[in-house]
Amino acid sequence: MDGARSEAGAGATIVGVIGSPVAHSLSPLLHNAAFAALGLADEWRSFAFEVPPGQAAAALEAMRLSRVTGLSVTMPHKADVAALVDECSDVARRLGAVNCIVNRDGALFGTNTDGEGFVSSLARGAGFAPEGRRCVVVGAGGAARAVVLALAVGGAAQVAVVNRTPERAYEAAELAGPVGSVVPLTEGSIAEAVAAADLVVNATPVGMAGVAGQTGGPGVWLVPPDLLEPGQVAADLVYAPRVTPWLAEAVACGATAVDGLGMLVHQAAAQLVLWTGVEPPVEAMWRAAEAASPREG
Ligand code: NAD
Repeated sequence: MDGARSEAGAGATIVGVIGSPVAHSLSPLLHNAAFAALGLADEWRSFAFEVPPGQAAAALEAMRLSRVTGLSVTMPHKADVAALVDECSDVARRLGAVNCIVNRDGALFGTNTDGEGFVSSLARGAGFAPEGRRCVVVGAGGAARAVVLALAVGGAAQVAVVNRTPERAYEAAELAGPVGSVVPLTEGSIAEAVAAADLVVNATPVGMAGVAGQTGGPGVWLVPPDLLEPGQVAADLVYAPRVTPWLAEAVACGATAVDGLGMLVHQAAAQLVLWTGVEPPVEAMWRAAEAASPREG
């Protein structure tokens, strides 16, 4: 992070993202677009820092030494950072994962904006609010857990988890408290859960570009998209490509689609508020994200 300090200048405020691999991360682009829109481009700069697996502690030490104001945290460091920061928000503690660090005069505060970013993306993309709604979440990894917790906190009537490994499904569903449940892995139970749902979320990497054997298709999808109907919302957390095969087929069946770019933009906007204390220029961040990741791409 010393390099970023020399490049940005001694007086600049530095933020960034740590991850591995991190080169493809859109976070610095989103942050820098926001700083430009706020007229802060000369004072605030965002960088991508490649931090190998297992090296999060060294990165946090460098953050303190180089007086880096804020860091976004991505794969594979979210759980490690939750154990390393000086203080965690309630959300980050419950998830056991931090996606945002705020440097408060050397004391590192960790939180997680993934869930609130997802809920904001539903509002913008489909005018959907979780309150009183029945939701199905496919997957039980880090992103799924953030979504399950945020939907329950948002007042969902039901958050049902579908996952290949039942133990992990139960752990994720527990985050939703009394409204959480696990869908048994039978065709009938899955069809029944989807038929009763207002929202179905793909929180697995199935459909993500470059993930071998995971481009989707019958036999790969736990929840076949042709179970969806008009009036239901289909959300996919994958944002490269913007339209996954699962999302495309759900739309062909009449569902309203929300792709993963919105979650990316809104979780970054929520981080920006924590670092700068000012209202983030969400539209400018959207324009930067859409230019980097067009819907056709
Ligand atoms: P993870 O590795 O923690 O969890 C992946 C989950 O998917 C696990 O529950 C796993 O069992 C399940 N899974 C994997 N392959 C599967 C298959 N073939 N069939 C059924 N289930 C399968 O990953 P994560 O961090 O939770 O990320 C999941 C996806 O969400 C990734 O594609 C990631 O890029 C995306 N994501 C997007 C955003 C965003 O801002 N849009 C944020 C976080 C994650």
